[in-house]
Amino acid sequence: MLVQVALDIPTEKTFTYLVPVPLRDVVGIGSRVAVPFGGRSLVGYVVSLEGEADVSSVKEIEGTIGEGPVFCAADLPFYTWVADYYLHPLGKVLAEILPFRGREGSRRIKAEGEGKTPGDGGRVSEAVGVRHLLNADQRRVLDEIRRAVDGGSFQSCLLHGVTGSGKTEIYLRLIAHVMKENGGVLYLVPEIGLTGQLISRLRERFPSEPLAILHSGLTTAKRREAWLSLLRGGVRLAVGARSAVFAPVGNLRLIIVDEEHDESYKQDERMRYNARDLALVRGRMTGATVVLGSATPSVQTYYHALLGRHRLLVMPRRVEERPLPKVDIVDLRLERGEKDEESLILSRYLRTAMRETLNRGKQVLLLLNRRGFHTLRLCRECGGVVRCRNCSVSLIYHAAEGVLRCHYCDYSVRAEAVCPACGGGPIVSYGFGTERLAEAVSRFFPGSRVARMDRDTTKGRGSHEMILGALGRGEIDILVGTQMVSKGHDYPGVVLVGIVSADTALHLPDFRAAERTFQLLTQASGRGGRGEDPGRVIIQTFNPGHYALQWAKNHDYAGFFRQEIDLRRQLGYPPFSRLVQFLVSGPGEEKTVEAALLLAAEGKRLMGTLGLRENVEIVGPAEAPIARLRGRYRRHLLLKGRDSRDLHLLAAEMGRLRLPRAVELRVDIDPMNFL
Ligand code: ADP
Ligand code: ZN
Repeated sequence: MLVQVALDIPTEKTFTYLVPVPLRDVVGIGSRVAVPFGGRSLVGYVVSLEGEADVSSVKEIEGTIGEGPVFCAADLPFYTWVADYYLHPLGKVLAEILPFRGREGSRRIKAEGEGKTPGDGGRVSEAVGVRHLLNADQRRVLDEIRRAVDGGSFQSCLLHGVTGSGKTEIYLRLIAHVMKENGGVLYLVPEIGLTGQLISRLRERFPSEPLAILHSGLTTAKRREAWLSLLRGGVRLAVGARSAVFAPVGNLRLIIVDEEHDESYKQDERMRYNARDLALVRGRMTGATVVLGSATPSVQTYYHALLGRHRLLVMPRRVEERPLPKVDIVDLRLERGEKDEESLILSRYLRTAMRETLNRGKQVLLLLNRRGFHTLRLCRECGGVVRCRNCSVSLIYHAAEGVLRCHYCDYSVRAEAVCPACGGGPIVSYGFGTERLAEAVSRFFPGSRVARMDRDTTKGRGSHEMILGALGRGEIDILVGTQMVSKGHDYPGVVLVGIVSADTALHLPDFRAAERTFQLLTQASGRGGRGEDPGRVIIQTFNPGHYALQWAKNHDYAGFFRQEIDLRRQLGYPPFSRLVQFLVSGPGEEKTVEAALLLAAEGKRLMGTLGLRENVEIVGPAEAPIARLRGRYRRHLLLKGRDSRDLHLLAAEMGRLRLPRAVELRVDIDPMNFL
């Protein structure tokens, strides 16, 4: 008996091994096995039961690891598709997505909900008390999606519903419907921070239905437990962040991708994939219904919905006729005259609104997409700025720790009172981040309970939930945070949302900057006024006329989309083209530049031989916006074309180019981040 084994090594090949007689009954697709390879013993996964090799020279499997398979044979075509599309070897795909490291996990762990006899059809019990009577919009949308689910073949729907229109309620009804028919459900949310509130809502609604929870904030043991509970069929509802898209949900009937526009669905390290896109692929392969939900759909998804690729379902109103928040834009250019420097952080207008809100015992959310205290510290004598040792960026001052820190590699040095370069100049500081903002807020509103939520304050496990829990219980008056606070949460006590600077996202060197800003503003606005009280939003900016701000102010997604899609069409950017990014990086600048030029030349040559000159364009090589990161110089190159097959053909060939040893070549299919 011969089998093909995929190994966690950088090659597209799988390898043939012989299964020794005593193992023949236990080895199957999905088995984890130890195999001899190049004088070592490696762990691999059986991906096919047909091997082809000269039987006399083929080596034997050494043994199996753990009990039973670690993935389902029926999911293998999906995993193989992922490997092909993202140009990532199958063995590496499996190593990335399976919650097993090396040889561990052979012990049998009791899964959540085991012994509760779930999975026998028709036994889903919904608890209610918490069930709302659906309004007309919700009923119409629910009926449509339910019909798609019952159709039993692949369908994708875009549920475009304003914040607070009751989308989650629809998801819950759909889940109940599917599970009654003994179907499996995959429910994706973009952020680990969002799983907390959702899980309590699911547990409340389906008290006897065990859940498999999967995200990177859990220990490997916990993820393994959840994974196995799905694989063994005891659990059929999986909830998680992007990696959950690979979960072995049996009889998959429904995939929900909540906040489909969110960029957290894109993984930007190791295996660069987009879980939203993969949800659609998986739905097509398994004949499941895929629901993409958002108040601010990505331009790509909305465009595809208009073309008829997704069924477009709209919920234009909030539940119970609650009004959308009133949005005001504060022109910071007019605040320049203020003597008080902190008025540039919080305008008088925003402060007045905050005071009113606090006086009524309500809560305020302040959003600023920048961490730290000061963003720039400059020597008045020599003009010197302390820069990162490893990256081509300046360091950000973090006052609480008294350090200057790099926001890309985390390198930090002690902040000196005088300039370390000229040894004497006094330091002046500019710019502000969340740390400084929280301090200013405490000074303006003494006695208020102020909390901060950003990457610095949420390092510990469970810290997200702790902060949001306190907000929900009314123990925080003002929450200051980065975009983390803008997403998905539902806190009726929050009636005022302040966007401290709408400009941070607008100026990124990225064709999606306007889209991101529009989404951020709309999503953040959506956090306000979800209770009885109408919400209010105040946006501070130096660019009050920008179209992303103006359409966000008017809650007009369609208006924004029309303007944005015209620009994309003119420039030939996605969704009118597809992109592949190559990033070349190395410890020496000269070798890196050489390698990038070589890659571009090779790409052009291949375009000729493959007959793709008309179909694909190569842009670059150019210095990456962050030209040096973590000690490595960086150059990038973009492939742009209409047809993804053409791009793949070329990208796969280019990826095989041999570059000098120290130079690394990274391929990003459908890139989102160009820094
Ligand atoms: P979305 O996901 O669209 O932002 P949610 O589903 O979270 O909206 O609903 C917002 C709030 O309205 C929640 O507190 C939810 O319990 C409540 N809600 C949902 N549907 C209804 C309804 N039909 N009637 C009254 N309240 C509802
Ligand atoms: Zn750095």
